[in-house]
Amino acid sequence: MTYKAFDVAKIREDFPILKREVNNKPLVYFDNAATSQTPQAVIDVIADYYGNYNANIHRGVHTLSQEATDAYEVARQKIQHHFNAQKAHEIILTSGTTHSINIVASGYATLLKAGDELLVSAMEHHSNIVPWQMLCEKTGAQLKVIPMTEQGTLDKQAYANLLSEKTQLVFVNHVSNALGTVNPIEEIIEKAHAVGAKVLIDGAQAAPHIKADVQALDVDYYVTSAHKLCGPTGVGMLYGKEDLLNALPPYQGGGEMIAEVTFEKTTYADLPHKFEAGTPNIAGGIAFGAALDYMNAIGFDAIAAYEQELLDYATTALKKIVGVQIYGEAPQKTAVLSFNVQGIHPYDVGSILDKFGIAVRTGHHCAQPIMDYYQIPGTIRASFSFYNTTEEIDRMLAALERALQMLQ
Ligand SMILES: *Cc1c(COP(=O)(O)O)cnc(C)c1O
Repeated sequence: MTYKAFDVAKIREDFPILKREVNNKPLVYFDNAATSQTPQAVIDVIADYYGNYNANIHRGVHTLSQEATDAYEVARQKIQHHFNAQKAHEIILTSGTTHSINIVASGYATLLKAGDELLVSAMEHHSNIVPWQMLCEKTGAQLKVIPMTEQGTLDKQAYANLLSEKTQLVFVNHVSNALGTVNPIEEIIEKAHAVGAKVLIDGAQAAPHIKADVQALDVDYYVTSAHKLCGPTGVGMLYGKEDLLNALPPYQGGGEMIAEVTFEKTTYADLPHKFEAGTPNIAGGIAFGAALDYMNAIGFDAIAAYEQELLDYATTALKKIVGVQIYGEAPQKTAVLSFNVQGIHPYDVGSILDKFGIAVRTGHHCAQPIMDYYQIPGTIRASFSFYNTTEEIDRMLAALERALQMLQ
């Protein structure tokens, strides 16, 4: 399957859900930053697993177990190659971004001491804030915040000033889920390394739009979820440099993660199994690989260019509506439009749009500190994917005008 030119009509055929109606209107799905839709190719991979070779992995000598193990490990290699990790065992399969961050944060409990400093950006998802706060409570380390600007970018000078030899870890999202800002992670990583700090990049929102190269970035940890990039829910990855993952204590104890168990002492398995206790989401892992295949066949450059067109089109049109305020106008953005209409609660707008079959998200988008920065309760967020169209954006704008007539 290769797409010569960007043929959105053909791409839409791949997604069965795009044919359904909501409230007697064709579905317009603009909640892609929360989760993406799933192409038939990925749905087929999941059905094929349960229909033909469902078995537990890594343990059995029987044929089904070997087939399942092979498919799971092939998926790991696909993920490795996609993110250009040097070694397959540097890819830990997890239940998603949240799980991945918790593995790292809980591991550092034994590696930090009181007085150490951790830097977090002001525009993080709660899953890249709370685990670190818990870590600080355990260790006496201090969490410091890299401030953001009105435009929705990080304050680079403030970041440089916060870095010191006390800084042990820096965590920043590659792309903000609430604003769409693409953060300058190359620079952030380089500056952190200059003071000896390690960096974790939350790639959950970037991965559907940008193909990150973990070796070129020289990033220490990179995490993402499959469900934001056309894969299933409940599966994701933690990339970590081999020596760092070896130094990190295991997160959960159980089957699969051990080398030898006696009641006196247990020794841990090698990477990646040390961090993969218990039976994983086997079908999910295999489907994660299939989702990457699907997106790579279309091509990330083509996807990014098309989504940029959608974003520019929608931004220009939205600005013409009286009373609309857009949050986050960084020069480099993915296709996320976060906005409010003067005097109207975002929830009310979202509810009316739903009546027109249009799915947007309203609220704080798991990034309450950003809302506090702008002193708002939340925003309306329309987030576009490569299977969306300008016609759908027109429908949202028309519905929005109707909603405003009803509410103002
Ligand atoms: C979605 C998202 C997360 C959380 O991902 P889960 O799959 O819920 O673990 C974290 N960070 C960002 C930037 C996200 O967009």
